[in-house]
Amino acid sequence: MTIPKSVRIAGFDFEVSIVEATDLDIKNQVTLNTLAGTITLLECAPKEMMCTLFHECIHAMMFALGYSADEHDEKLINGLSRQLFQLVQDNPEMFERVDDGDDDGTI
Ligand SMILES: [Zn+2]
Repeated sequence: MTIPKSVRIAGFDFEVSIVEATDLDIKNQVTLNTLAGTITLLECAPKEMMCTLFHECIHAMMFALGYSADEHDEKLINGLSRQLFQLVQDNPEMFERVDDGDDDGTI
């Protein structure tokens, strides 16, 4: 599994970039900018970056569902991001693209 250059969430593309960590950045490890369509990750261990990317994707999904930032449950999102990462790691065949006759892959 590699960090993608972009992710599509609810029909919107988010450019994913990785920046070097500095002491000042440690407190705010990642930035999701829904207006700019960007997710910025701090460079760290690959598994941690993937969990963080899942975390930010869940935030983006919640915004797409109409939840405001103050309605996002950080503890739940942290847990789900790690569980989803492990689900994908342990079951890669589950995440192959499903061909149901249309090309867009949406449900
Ligand atoms: Zn968060």
